[in-house]
Amino acid sequence: MNSSLRIALVANTLALIAGSGSALAGASAAGKNQQDGKSSVTVHILRNAEVPIPTLFLAEAVAREMFAKAGVNLKLQTRKPKLDAVGQKIVVDITSGGPKFLHRAALAYAEEFEGVHITVFYDRVKDAACGSASEFVGPCAGSSLPMLLAHVLVHEITHILEGIDRHSREGVMKAHWTTGDIAGMARKPLPFDRSDIELIRSGLARRETARKVTVALGR
Ligand SMILES: [Zn+2]
Repeated sequence: MNSSLRIALVANTLALIAGSGSALAGASAAGKNQQDGKSSVTVHILRNAEVPIPTLFLAEAVAREMFAKAGVNLKLQTRKPKLDAVGQKIVVDITSGGPKFLHRAALAYAEEFEGVHITVFYDRVKDAACGSASEFVGPCAGSSLPMLLAHVLVHEITHILEGIDRHSREGVMKAHWTTGDIAGMARKPLPFDRSDIELIRSGLARRETARKVTVALGR
């Protein structure tokens, strides 16, 4: 893809996100009200694969908007967290390949009980978004790849926040997205199930309590 086309596509997708503003307006407001830190989550994204910057930038923007709908202020950083950093950070390692012990269809995994680490297999995400050219309108020439990457990030971060291994029947926390889901998310982000929003909120409260205990103990 040439750069001008890519820029046009990024602009189109940003317009698509802006176009869903009425649906997002309330959520964004909720996110703003909670930017005092109570519902903020810091996620460190480590780019250890050849992810084009515009793709990652767009995926991060979409992920932030998706979490805003759940009342979460997602703060993204590109550096590793300091070892002695207080609080429970989330670290996403975007790697190229995937390990053999995981099913080939697995795009990523989260260590939800450990509560920190996520690994994303970028090559697999790219293949899922772009591999079956005939099934998508303009695969990889459109927003399929950054939108799928955004959903993978949101899905795995949600596993960490919920702290349990569960999935919802529909939406971003569905266990397996169909090709139809992937095509659909390129047009409009998949929603959170109401139960996921409740679990995210209780998970955030749990993490905040743990952070305060850590501070109180001077660790
Ligand atoms: Zn999952």
